[in-house]
Amino acid sequence: MVIVMRPDATQEQINNISEYLKKLGLDVHISKGAEYTIIGIIGDKRLLGDTPLELMPGVEKTIPIAEPYKLVTKTFKPEPTVIDVRGHKVGGGTLTVIAGPCAVENKEQTIETAIAVKNAGAHMLRGGAYKPRTSPYSFQGLEEEGLKILAEAREITGLPIVSEVISPSSLETALKYLDVVQIGARNMQNFQLLREVGQARIPVILKRGISATIEEWLNAAEYIMSEGNYQIIMCERGIRTFETATRNTLDISAVPVLKSKTHLPVIVDPSHGTGKRDLVIPMSLAAIAAGADGIIVEVHRDPMHALSDGPQSLSHDDFAVLMKKITALYNAMEHVNGQY
Ligand code: PEP
Ligand code: MN
Repeated sequence: MVIVMRPDATQEQINNISEYLKKLGLDVHISKGAEYTIIGIIGDKRLLGDTPLELMPGVEKTIPIAEPYKLVTKTFKPEPTVIDVRGHKVGGGTLTVIAGPCAVENKEQTIETAIAVKNAGAHMLRGGAYKPRTSPYSFQGLEEEGLKILAEAREITGLPIVSEVISPSSLETALKYLDVVQIGARNMQNFQLLREVGQARIPVILKRGISATIEEWLNAAEYIMSEGNYQIIMCERGIRTFETATRNTLDISAVPVLKSKTHLPVIVDPSHGTGKRDLVIPMSLAAIAAGADGIIVEVHRDPMHALSDGPQSLSHDDFAVLMKKITALYNAMEHVNGQY
């Protein structure tokens, strides 16, 4: 439920309502738009009892939120969420490019790629330390050692670091090192992990589950938000369909669909979304043209010999080309970036 205040409502009236709701044991989120102030009510609405909210001074109307996810909707918070990662803004009209290897394999490889993507203009470094591989016999990641290497790469390049967590214990370790944690597709409905990430105060990239509907994905974001962590970046990474020409079917339409439903920033992963290097640049551009706030992309110094996801990894040179094209496109779209 949200309360829409009249355009001429005073700050005192807004404060009075907030205080009243808090006394009932509810929490509030206030969004100030150009004309209207909206008070979002958080918590069990049964606590409201028969309170005639419409009759309180300054109130124009109340709107129930029909969706099962309440906090992630634009009804609850009409203005776009902008997430600050070490000074870089994600969402709200800024391009974000996160790049790096699928997996942290060793120090030299990670640092070499970190420097290359930084020089090409990336805003953050990615690298998997806990790898949820399809086969138990594939490389599983360096775990905490990998996180330490990422932190060293941050020291050298200044790039904020992003990596996946796969369990509550990996989260606890990761919080010591990372600027952003990633929930991978395979864990999008790991509700215990979502709750624990929700209790942390760190930005989260929430990838779409391999077979998840947009509604299930938004509900996963609600799990995180309902624990108090509002810093969520939604990441489309392709879904399972009958198509076999690509690794997954990258659902570009999810970008404008999400933008119509939520205030959260949206990025796209064209690497896992296609599984094919040649498709990464075209689909990155498609994502931006569709209104995405950025991309997360795999880059390797020697894709042929990568320990994971080589066929979809860009070389350092490929990545420099991608950066040039994506920046030109984003700048050309300046008048619409960050708009819904
Ligand atoms: C990844 O980004 O390293 C990854 C494993 O992606 P996904 O969870 O989308 O498969
Ligand atoms: Mn990968």
